[in-house]
Amino acid sequence: MAAPPPAISLSTRLADLPPTARVRPAHVNALAALGVNNVGQLLAHLPARHEFQEAEAPISSLTAGALVTARGEISATRVVNKGRLPRFEAVLMDDTGRLDLVFFNMPHMRHSLHPGMRVRVYGKAQAYGPGLQLANPKVEPLRDESKEPAAADSRLRPVYPASELIPSRAIEEIIARILEPALPLIEDHLPEPYRKQRELPELAAAYRMMHAPASEGEIAAARRRLAYDELLMLQLGVFLRRAQLRAAHRSPPIPWSEAIDARIRRRFPFSLTEAQEAVIREIVADLARPDPANRLIQGDVGSGKTAVAVYAMLCAVAAGHQAALMAPTELLAEQHDASISHLLANSKVRVRLLTGSLAAAERESTLAAIASGDVDITIGTHALLTEHVRFSSLALAVIDEQHRFGVHQRAGLRTKGAQGQPEPSFDSPPSPAPILTPHVLVMTATPIPRTLALTIYGDLDISTISALPPGRSPIATRVVTPDKSAEVYAWLRTRLDEGDQAYVVVPAIDSGATAGDADLADLRSTLKRLEEGPLAGKRLAAIHGRLKPDTREHVMSRFRAGEIDALIATTVIEVGVDVPNATIMVVENADRFGLAQLHQLRGRVGRSTKKSACILIADPVTIDGAARLAVMAQTNDGFELAERDAEIRGPGEVFGTRQAGAPAFKVADLMRDRDLLGLARHDAAAWIEAS
Ligand code: ADP
Ligand code: MG
Repeated sequence: MAAPPPAISLSTRLADLPPTARVRPAHVNALAALGVNNVGQLLAHLPARHEFQEAEAPISSLTAGALVTARGEISATRVVNKGRLPRFEAVLMDDTGRLDLVFFNMPHMRHSLHPGMRVRVYGKAQAYGPGLQLANPKVEPLRDESKEPAAADSRLRPVYPASELIPSRAIEEIIARILEPALPLIEDHLPEPYRKQRELPELAAAYRMMHAPASEGEIAAARRRLAYDELLMLQLGVFLRRAQLRAAHRSPPIPWSEAIDARIRRRFPFSLTEAQEAVIREIVADLARPDPANRLIQGDVGSGKTAVAVYAMLCAVAAGHQAALMAPTELLAEQHDASISHLLANSKVRVRLLTGSLAAAERESTLAAIASGDVDITIGTHALLTEHVRFSSLALAVIDEQHRFGVHQRAGLRTKGAQGQPEPSFDSPPSPAPILTPHVLVMTATPIPRTLALTIYGDLDISTISALPPGRSPIATRVVTPDKSAEVYAWLRTRLDEGDQAYVVVPAIDSGATAGDADLADLRSTLKRLEEGPLAGKRLAAIHGRLKPDTREHVMSRFRAGEIDALIATTVIEVGVDVPNATIMVVENADRFGLAQLHQLRGRVGRSTKKSACILIADPVTIDGAARLAVMAQTNDGFELAERDAEIRGPGEVFGTRQAGAPAFKVADLMRDRDLLGLARHDAAAWIEAS
C-alpha cells in the first residue's frame, strides 16, 4: 500500500501550511521580508546564537542576568501610562517570593493576564529595586491544574535573526512546530560512510541540533556540518571552473633541461634560496604540461619573487616563445624593465617596455616587434591588455602584485592567446579545438591568509616563497605621535649624514583628481617643511604618480645611484621599488593607511644587511587604527599581519572592496573554520577528479 503523500514538502509556501502549523498571515509577510517563503527556507533560517535558559526554579533562587523560568500566581496587574512608554505591569508570586513582570508595547497582555491566573514565565531576569523583574517575558498560562506541564528543564534557546515585524521568539515557535514534520523531508547529499569518515552528522540531524539543541556539543556538531557543506559547495564551484578551463584550453608545453637551467642560473648575481628553488620546481612542472598553468606565487615583500618570475620567463624564451610581465604601476614596470634588462645585458634575450605613456611612434614600433616575435619579454602595465597588443607566441604571462589588479584584468591576459603559433599536437585532441592560451603566474606580496587565498583564488594553485633571502636584518618599527616629529627627523638627519637613504611617505588616495591635487599639496608642503627645517641641506626629491615617466625614471635612477638622500613620496612607491641602500622609512599620518599597505610600504626598506627602521607617525582616532599600528610594531611577518588584519576588520572587509567576490556564508567563518576549509578543498578536488 502506497504511503499517503506528505502533507508538506520543503517547497510548501508558508502561506499554504495547514492550520495546525499556526503561522499567522502577518508572520508569513514578516518572514517573507526576511527572505523566508517556504518550509525549506524556514529550516535554513538558522539561529544567530543560542541562549542558555535555566531550569524552572523557585522565585527566591533566581539570579539577575540569567535567562530564567518560574511559575506562580498573578497577584496584581496595572496599566501605567506615565513616562515615555506606556506599559503593563504584573506581579507574580510563588511560595518563595515575588517577581515583577513588565510589558512594553504589548497592549494585548492587559487582556490576557488577570490576577488569580497561574502562569509559567520565562525571560531575562534584571535587578529591580530589592527584587527581580522580567521585561517582556514569555508567558504560558497553566490552565488546568491537574494537567499542569512538568517543570521546564534547562535548555538552549535559539535566537533568530528577526525584525520589527516578527521577534525571534515568534520565529522560534513557528520553527519548533514545523521541525518534526519537516526534518524527515531533508535528504542528505552526502553518503553515510563519507559522513562517518569526516565525523559529520546527518543533514537533518544538523538542522535539528541547530534549531533545538540538547547541548553546546550538538550546536558545535551542527555548525561543523553546515559549514562544511557551504565550503564544499564553494570549492566544488572553484574546481569545476578550473576543470572547464583545463578542458577548453591548451598552453604550449615549455620543456626544461639542465642545460637551460644552468644557462638561466648563470644570470643571477646570487644563488637562489631554497624557498625560491622549491617554488621554481613547482612552476617548471606546471609549464611542462599542455594544461594552462594557473598559479599564485605568494611571497612576503622582499622574498625575491622577481627572480622566480624571470626564471620562468627565460624558460619560455628558451623554448622559443614569448613571455610577458604585467605590473600594476608604470613605476614598477619601469623598475622591472631596468633591472631585468640589466640582468640580461649581453644576452640574446630581447626585453621591451610597453606602458600607456610611450610616445606614439615608439609604441607603434614596440607593438610591431611584439607581433612579429622580435621581442622575447614584454614588460608593461595594463597597456598590455589593450586589443592592439598582439603577441606572436605568448606562452607565459606573469602578473606582478596581482592584488592590485581586478579579477577581469587577470582574465584579460589569458585571452592574449598565442596567435599565429602552430597548434601543438596531442595524442587525442579534445573537440572542439582547444583555445590556445598562455600559462599564467600571478604574484602577490599582499600576504593573503591561506584560508582566504583558497577561497578567493581557489581556482589557482598556490606556491609560497616561505623565507627571505639571507642576510636581511629585521626592520625595527616604531609608532610615534606627531609631537615627536622633530625628534624623528633630527634622528633621520644623523642617519642620512652617515650615508643611509630614506623614504618619507605621505598619504595618497588612489583615485579622483581632486583628492590627488590635495595629496600633491600635502607632498609639496612636506617637502618644503623638511627642506626648510629638519633636513635643510640634504638632497631631497619628490616622487608621485603624476610625474612624467622620464622625470620619474630620472628621479629613481638618481636615488638608486645615491644622488638623492631622501625621497618624499606618495604611495607610488608602495609596490616593487627596490633600492637596498634605502634603510629608513618615515610614514606621515600612518593611521590613514591600511595594514596591508603599511606592510608593503615598509617592505621598501630592510633590503640589505644594514639595520633598517620604519617610523610610523600617527595620532590614531579609532581603536582599529591604533590596533593596526600596534600590530605593525609587533611583527614583520606579512602572513601574520594579514591574519591579524582579517581579525581586526573581518575577512569580508579586507577583501570587500578590492577583491570583489569574497563569498558570504551563513555558517562558515573563514578564520575560525580553516581546518574545515582545507578538508572541503581536499574533498572537492577528489570529487572533480573522480567525475
Ligand atoms: P619581491 O618578492 O618583494 O618582489 P624582489 O624580487 O624585488 O622581492 O627581491 C627583493 C630583493 O632581493 C632584490 O634586491 C633582489 O635582487 C634580491 N634577491 C632576490 N633573490 C635573492 C637571493 N636568492 N639572494 C639574495 N638576494 C636576492
Ligand atoms: Mg616584487
